Amino acid sequence: MSKTNFYLVSTLIFVLAIGIALGVYKDKIVQEIRITTADAAKDKKPTFSPVKALSDRDVYYPGTEDLKPDEMRIVACGTGQPSVRPKQAASCWLLELGNGDKFLFDIGSGSHERISAQKIPYDYMDKVFLGHLHVDHFGDFASFWLGGTVMNRLTPLRVWGPSGATPEYGTKAAMQNLKEAYVWDIATRSGFVDFRGGELEVTEFDYKGVNKVIFNENGVIIRSIPAIHALDGSVSFILEWNGLKFAYSSDTFPNKWWHEYAKGADIAIHECFLPPTLLVTKQGFTPLEGLNVGAQAHTSPEQFGKVMSLTQPRLAVAFHFYNDFDTGPEVMERIRKTYDGPVALSQDYMVFNVTKNDIRVRMSAIDEDIWPSPALKKKIPPSSIESPFSDFISSGALAYPEVVGPIYEEVNEIYGTDYKPGIK
Ligand SMILES: [Zn+2]
Ligand SMILES: [Zn+2]
Repeated sequence: MSKTNFYLVSTLIFVLAIGIALGVYKDKIVQEIRITTADAAKDKKPTFSPVKALSDRDVYYPGTEDLKPDEMRIVACGTGQPSVRPKQAASCWLLELGNGDKFLFDIGSGSHERISAQKIPYDYMDKVFLGHLHVDHFGDFASFWLGGTVMNRLTPLRVWGPSGATPEYGTKAAMQNLKEAYVWDIATRSGFVDFRGGELEVTEFDYKGVNKVIFNENGVIIRSIPAIHALDGSVSFILEWNGLKFAYSSDTFPNKWWHEYAKGADIAIHECFLPPTLLVTKQGFTPLEGLNVGAQAHTSPEQFGKVMSLTQPRLAVAFHFYNDFDTGPEVMERIRKTYDGPVALSQDYMVFNVTKNDIRVRMSAIDEDIWPSPALKKKIPPSSIESPFSDFISSGALAYPEVVGPIYEEVNEIYGTDYKPGIK
């Protein structure tokens, strides 16, 4: 056993031992997982003072921690099953790097809310990578894209996604179809607000590419590998930067490409569906549906464990199941049949700080009163706000000049402008 592995295993044994000693179920989803080398641990002693803020905290408060130049921070913005519930949005992972780059991997239904909770200006979140085109992996794309234009994003949104077996099943077609579906929305925003953030830059890459580079900028390399899920046209991603390797499965059945190219990842985030029996008892599936969905279209906990035994990441992360007090322990028990390494059963707002000698896992404390961050660029005022309505609709407007006039006067006086209402 290498020295590093020895430290990792020792740390894991220590963490589990503490859990048992505290009466915490041995495989319960722990609130904090720490995988730290002995040298790094020496630097991590928190200091306490009666007048200063705590030097170290057990939860993550978005927007309050610097990212170190060699650090990777990953926030779970969606960890649940395809159907969204208040506790868990569908698949979405935010990856932030110490060089300032930020990436979204999948952007499933309900995840936009979790992304906005990070208090990150939208211009910084301009790169979205889609593993496949299921609604639980890009259901909030339109919300993030078009909603982002009034959240002060002034740069185009860049999106990468796989081709399909035929063009109409690919990411380009999906984006074109979204533009057409949202033509009314787009028409209402452009003209009313600075709409530069509504531009889309789409890169469709070959879903059959095996470890092919699809992104290479600023010292960050992202490769895609084929995934086996539902239809041809699903992929997994591997990102490498600064000696760190992040692997994200999106949805897939266990496969040889993941085994070969995700191996040795610092953090390996892989889908792990509920076992078929729980799909039957808790979700009303028939036994065959449970098997089809839980162990063929997706990866069951036992299969996840097997995959991680071969991947041997510093930390394995399981997602894509409703993680509750009763399901979590069973999922972990099944994973433990085939894997005995470090693992986190993810929940929404779980945060992972990864450096070469430390991996820390915490939960976030979320500020629900979040507002958009200010625009990073100077805004261009809209060209005109003439009434866009037909004569018929205009004929129904009650302009109330005695009410609206003073509102315009107030704004014009404060900002030195001379605007007049378009609806008269
Ligand atoms: Zn899927
Ligand atoms: Zn999925």
